[in-house]
Amino acid sequence: MAVKTNGKLHRLRQVLAEVTDLTRAARVLEWDQETYMPPGGVPGRAEQLSTLLKLSHVRLTSDEVGRLLDDLEDELADAPFDSDEASIVRVTRRDYDQERKLPSELVAEAAHAGSVARPVWEKARHDDDFSLFAPYLEKNVELNRRIADALGYKERPYDALLDRSEPGMTTRQLALIFAELKQAIVPLVSDIARHADAVDDSVLYRGFDPDLQLSYALNVVRRLGYDLERGRQDLSTHPFSTGIDPGDVRITTRVSRDFFNECLFGSIHESGHGMYSQGMGAGIDRTPLWDGASPGVHESQSRLWENVVGRSLPFWRHFFPSLQAVFPEPLRGVDHEAFYRAVNKAHPSFIRVEADEVTYNMHVLLRFELETELLEGTLKVKDVPEAWSARFKSYLGLDVPNDREGALQDIHWSSVSFGIFPGYTIGNLVSAQLMEKIRADIPDLDAQIETGQFASLLSWLRRHVHIHGRKFTPDELLERATGKPLTAAPWIAYVQKKFGALYGLKQPVRN
Ligand code: ZN
Repeated sequence: MAVKTNGKLHRLRQVLAEVTDLTRAARVLEWDQETYMPPGGVPGRAEQLSTLLKLSHVRLTSDEVGRLLDDLEDELADAPFDSDEASIVRVTRRDYDQERKLPSELVAEAAHAGSVARPVWEKARHDDDFSLFAPYLEKNVELNRRIADALGYKERPYDALLDRSEPGMTTRQLALIFAELKQAIVPLVSDIARHADAVDDSVLYRGFDPDLQLSYALNVVRRLGYDLERGRQDLSTHPFSTGIDPGDVRITTRVSRDFFNECLFGSIHESGHGMYSQGMGAGIDRTPLWDGASPGVHESQSRLWENVVGRSLPFWRHFFPSLQAVFPEPLRGVDHEAFYRAVNKAHPSFIRVEADEVTYNMHVLLRFELETELLEGTLKVKDVPEAWSARFKSYLGLDVPNDREGALQDIHWSSVSFGIFPGYTIGNLVSAQLMEKIRADIPDLDAQIETGQFASLLSWLRRHVHIHGRKFTPDELLERATGKPLTAAPWIAYVQKKFGALYGLKQPVRN
């Protein structure tokens, strides 16, 4: 419903439209940088991006915006919480306060530290020499701490950083969720390891023509509901999606002749992000609401399509015959069931980005624990490799052979970005929690998927998640969509059931 205000809301929307246009222009430049820009463009592009983002920051944090927010908070005090008007003011206030709390020198120092640390991290990883990177990580830990102090927190410094990416989420809440995950997953991982032979994935390495993979993947994501009139797919080293505006939401993928999963599942993953952006409401365009509720909620959309749908048996009942028609040679003698099993092979491995559904969250837990301890000073940077190995052994049962496959593997710690990792696990949990409710609302979902019908699933997600953009915090969104805040139980039940069946494990006794 429309809410009556004087011209102030109109004025605020004008300013926010400009802020949005600036960040959207930056997104086009970033997309270009990751896809087609020649290497010589790197230094110039860094300047262009920094100028655009600075202008948008200045515009958002102006005194005028502060005054407009003060006035509109009074005027809209009785407006419904979920109205576009009240939500624009509420979410802009959150962004405005956070941006204003960070002194611009601190923001600049953090950006600078990141750009200095990045090449050192690359060299340290290449040489497998943690001591090279240690002083830079120390600096980044210190900057993360100063940012947490500037933003403020009630209980733990990590709360401040977490709240920036996952609004409303606390370290305490997350620690409880991870403890529950650990209790369920560690024994499941070792059960699977004992039955590793039950799943054979050699078919995935038989050689698949890259061009055919790309066109097949594009056709699949189109069938799922990714709109190519408002989207496109290109190649990049690290696949990503970018929502530029409602009419232009792009995805990228990568392709390997020797490993089937990369291209198709990469494309499905990014199309999940893409469909989220394509489904955001028209009334929130060119405002801060036109974005994902959080990185974690964004990730829930990609994981839902990639794993819960794309790695399901009904999905492969539908798609396998057409895949086999495109790749008769490598798929000779294979059936949909064998292929379903292959794409779901689970085994503990060292690299987070290559981890399967079961083990993935343990990689995130490890990083969450180390980040909170570094931030609070209970862990010293020099002791990180040892702490990494000890926990890796206890969670996934493996001895980490070197730091390249351990503490040096992720790019994240080369910049000042603590608080980002938990979003990956939140995404997995949210996807399962939504799916539990979707299955209750659409009882014949599997039958629909098996016949290649995805429209009712997509329209459920549109209605309950996509259309709202950033209107609600992750917990608010989940409460509205599923009746509960974030909980680990649906995801735990999902992996125990799916992987218990795949590996022929005894189902855990539930009490
Ligand atoms: Zn993603």
